Amino acid sequence: MIKDAVFVYSEDQMQYKFNDDHPFNHLRLRLTYDLLLSLGVIQEDDILTPRMATDEEINLFHDDAYIEAVQAAGKGTLSEGIAANYGIGTEDTPIFKNMHEASALLVGGTLTAVDAVMQNKAQHALHLGGGLHHGFRGRASGFCIYNDSAIAIEYMRRHYGARVLYIDTDAHHGDGVQWAFYDTPDACTLSIHETGRYLFPGTGSVNEKGQGQGFGFSINVPVDAFTEDDSFISCYETAIEEAAAFFKPDVILTQNGADAHYYDPLTHLSSTIKTFEMIPRLAHKLAHKYCGGKWIAVGGGGYDIWRVVPRAWSMLWLEMINRQDLLKHPIPPQWIETWQEQSPHPLPDKWTDPEDMYEHIPRQAEITGKNEKTLEKSLYYIRNEKKTKK
Ligand SMILES: [Zn+2]
Repeated sequence: MIKDAVFVYSEDQMQYKFNDDHPFNHLRLRLTYDLLLSLGVIQEDDILTPRMATDEEINLFHDDAYIEAVQAAGKGTLSEGIAANYGIGTEDTPIFKNMHEASALLVGGTLTAVDAVMQNKAQHALHLGGGLHHGFRGRASGFCIYNDSAIAIEYMRRHYGARVLYIDTDAHHGDGVQWAFYDTPDACTLSIHETGRYLFPGTGSVNEKGQGQGFGFSINVPVDAFTEDDSFISCYETAIEEAAAFFKPDVILTQNGADAHYYDPLTHLSSTIKTFEMIPRLAHKLAHKYCGGKWIAVGGGGYDIWRVVPRAWSMLWLEMINRQDLLKHPIPPQWIETWQEQSPHPLPDKWTDPEDMYEHIPRQAEITGKNEKTLEKSLYYIRNEKKTKK
């Protein structure tokens, strides 16, 4: 019998670690896994151990010279000058020991998830170690070395002949994945993110729609800073539904960065945990409506690793196994006891956020109106294409 979902996980993935002061911290994986264990919703036979991606697989997207540079950097044999050409050894993406192996294991995890779904071992697969959406063909960027999602999309095209709809809800634009498929109609990328006006990487405007044969297959919804739940969710819901109806995917790959939350130290959106409950709920519905359930979810950003990420990412798994009923209960006290001492903030004891988490700003109606106009522009092309086809 086909399983509802598999969870791709190994503690070895925490070896993707730049340094102790870096905001990217894969202790998040352990915190989430431990929360799911405390809930009693993950069994041994739900877990798949990630495999290591081969150089050939990484090469589905990345240049040979770049892979060689990452390998040399991880062995300590790459000069600073050459490293800079590849975006490594920077403040965002410093060199660390065995960085190639650690990065290849994250790619392999996403491929493990892909194979489980495409070979009908499970309807859905979750790999929280992936989602490194800023990696470019020949350059590291924004904490990302290898772009597991871009590799996975190309892998699904070649091995399974699949048309992939990629949905990215990280607060940062999913630039690496977008540019990877900018000129092809075989993959559709949709990114909803905080506008690039003040935020890395600065791209992701409504005008980035793809080029050549790929025109229309890149969709961007850049929402305003301080956007709250209702507006974010409404833009997301409309955009993913219309994109799926337009593109008719065989499989959905979602990138689930958890950095659109108000507490996130690197971004300026005002989502609460409610947004992270709705994101997988709507993606799940879409996967069953269009893809016979085929849905792979990966992680991504998320820099409040204590109060936000474990809850947000657990909600993905609870959605996949249809156990959202557990969200009515408190957070298991043993999870709080285990981790409270290490956390700089009091850990949440509920799945919801407090009503008074932040002061609502009077400008909210204006922001919502602006987002509605943005969404119109984002979907203008596919709405008109549909009309002319009829
Ligand atoms: Zn991000």
